[in-house]
Amino acid sequence: MPLPADYHMHTVLCRHAVGVPTEYAAQAVRLGLTEIGFSEHNPMIRDDYDDWHMLQADLDTYVANVEQARRDHPRLTIKLALEVDYIPGQEDWIRQLAARHPWDYLIGAVHYVSESWDLDNPKKISEWKNRDPFEVWTVYFERLTMAAESGLFDIMAHADLCKKFCFYPKQPWMPMVAQFMKAAKSADVAMELNTAGLRKDCREIYPSRSIVDLAAQHGVPITFASDAHAAGEVGMNFEDAVAMAKAAGYTEWCRFTRRKREPVKL
Ligand SMILES: [Zn+2]
Ligand SMILES: [Zn+2]
Repeated sequence: MPLPADYHMHTVLCRHAVGVPTEYAAQAVRLGLTEIGFSEHNPMIRDDYDDWHMLQADLDTYVANVEQARRDHPRLTIKLALEVDYIPGQEDWIRQLAARHPWDYLIGAVHYVSESWDLDNPKKISEWKNRDPFEVWTVYFERLTMAAESGLFDIMAHADLCKKFCFYPKQPWMPMVAQFMKAAKSADVAMELNTAGLRKDCREIYPSRSIVDLAAQHGVPITFASDAHAAGEVGMNFEDAVAMAKAAGYTEWCRFTRRKREPVKL
């Protein structure tokens, strides 16, 4: 079986990744992947919101760069997508972005747990030290659940990103995950297995095995994600992610084309 598609990759346009789509595509071909998808960080409602999203004026360049990669690698299937930050109150902005291009899928992501704190930002790690991890995780999973319920997204990103720097709550947190999983199932949203966590302090795939087990029990469909921020990270640790999915009982991943989902054998 070929490896599943890598549906989560960034490019130089988000200002904290390196390389253009055609370089990522070349690496995918070298690895024997047959399908990939670009999911650049969406332009925010204001360009000065932060310094790690694509700028509004670069959106068309992004699409053109992905189209160039398609021309350069005609045998590789290349999907065009966005990773979109879910911030409560900005749903109309997300709808506007969704209408800008015929995206193959939109990945919904929670990084912000307040207007100004993106909890995975290494420059803001001190924020964690002023807060109770249980409260942060609670807000994080509330927002993730709202994002799943919003109907705006096809796939939910790195479901337990809040573990990145190892600030784990003392209290049980599985009930919040269960809320999210119920929402994902009833909204018919997929969840990704994201190997970037293996390259962070937490040293685990996002989400952890217990969450993947719960997703499998609920029948939530899955995709695979390297969250590559450089061409060399494409498809990284996919064997581990596939093994985890199979151990949890998954026999399929899902492909998205113009926001329609179809199952593919794992
Ligand atoms: Zn990023
Ligand atoms: Zn992300």
